[in-house]
Amino acid sequence: MALELVVITKIVPDGSEVFIDPVNLTLNRSLATNVINPADENALELALQVKARYGGRITVLSMTPPFAIPYLEECVGRGADRAILLSDKAVAGSDTYPTSLAIAAAIKHIGKVDIVFAGEKTSDSSTGHVGPGVAEFLDAELASYVSSVEYDDGYVIATREFEEGTEVVRIPTPAVVTVLTNSNNPRKASLRRKIDAIRQGVIVWDLKEVGLPPDAVGLRNSPTIVKRMIPFPRRDRKGEKITTDNIAKLVDVFEQNKLIKGGE
Ligand SMILES: Cc1cc2nc3c(=O)[nH]c(=O)nc-3n(C[C@H](O)[C@H](O)[C@H](O)COP(=O)(O)OP(=O)(O)OC[C@H]3O[C@@H](n4cnc5c(N)ncnc54)[C@H](O)[C@@H]3O)c2cc1C
Repeated sequence: MALELVVITKIVPDGSEVFIDPVNLTLNRSLATNVINPADENALELALQVKARYGGRITVLSMTPPFAIPYLEECVGRGADRAILLSDKAVAGSDTYPTSLAIAAAIKHIGKVDIVFAGEKTSDSSTGHVGPGVAEFLDAELASYVSSVEYDDGYVIATREFEEGTEVVRIPTPAVVTVLTNSNNPRKASLRRKIDAIRQGVIVWDLKEVGLPPDAVGLRNSPTIVKRMIPFPRRDRKGEKITTDNIAKLVDVFEQNKLIKGGE
């Protein structure tokens, strides 16, 4: 039977363009352009490789406002079969607990799912909670820090990478795998597939569609309280252009700071 594969993805602001608002002490993302969360690109690529090897259907799922639609079309352009956007005003203010709950509800609404692929973490909030949280709400097995996946008759064989080494686990489906950033080379969408993806469109669900009441999500059902944020003090850096005329000065600085050793 064809595998039912789901890739969950968050659209994040490009990290280099996010700064802390000095007055409100909140993250100001308003000037940032958005990107598919980097680890989720690896999760999608891994799902595409699993599909190429074992067959199946890939659904990309994101819980976010509709601005994310072009990014979901990009995922379909790369080879996913369809994209679902879970979008509802009631999820505003949700921390990772109701976020995981709502994503799991959408996955249950898809029906029988064999493997859910998530990124190991996002590049903005970076908690790494959502993959494991979704596994918990789905009552599914979890393999984290995964670099590759094989499928064998109702089991996922996942390779997990650590600083100390590598571990291969065999877990039954339904399974959630959280995929390591940079663990593969994500493909790009072809122009033809991108045009097809735009024509195909994105399926939009709200909370009612996935059977969740509004009071199950949002700030009210979020146990995290952000008490305060402390920005790093600004460091004033001074630069000096080094040319052949003043290179001796640079050598002095290196020697004074023990960055080079004479004669070596
Ligand atoms: C008190 C509080 C209030 C918040 N209010 C808001 C708010 O109003 N609006 C807002 O946008 N955020 C809000 N957030 C942030 C929001 O909770 C996180 O963006 C979200 O839970 C994901 O957490 P993360 O980025 O750490 O994901 P991680 O757990 O690091 O993500 C791991 C993986 O899970 C998947 N994933 C994560 N998020 C999603 C998603 N939304 N859809 C699909 N897949 C996903 C991706 O595969 C990702 O790689 C709030 C957080 C807190 C603590």
